[in-house]
Amino acid sequence: MAHRTVAPNEDPVCGMTVDIEQARAKGLVLEEDGREFGFCGKGCFLEFRDDPETYLAEGYSPSM
Ligand SMILES: [Zn+2]
Repeated sequence: MAHRTVAPNEDPVCGMTVDIEQARAKGLVLEEDGREFGFCGKGCFLEFRDDPETYLAEGYSPSM
C-alpha cells in the first residue's frame, strides 16, 4: 500500500508537531515502516499502534 509522507516531527494521527526526543522520554514513540513516529499523547500512540496502516495511508488527513 502506498504511504503518505509524514514529517519526522509530525504526529501521524492528529498532525501536531512533536518533539521526538520528548516523546521518546515519555515512551510515545513507535517504530513502523522502517522509521520512528512520535506522538503528542497516549491516545494517538495507542490508536496508531492498533492500526498504523490507517494513519499512513495515502488518503488519510490528520485531524484532532
Ligand atoms: Zn496526536
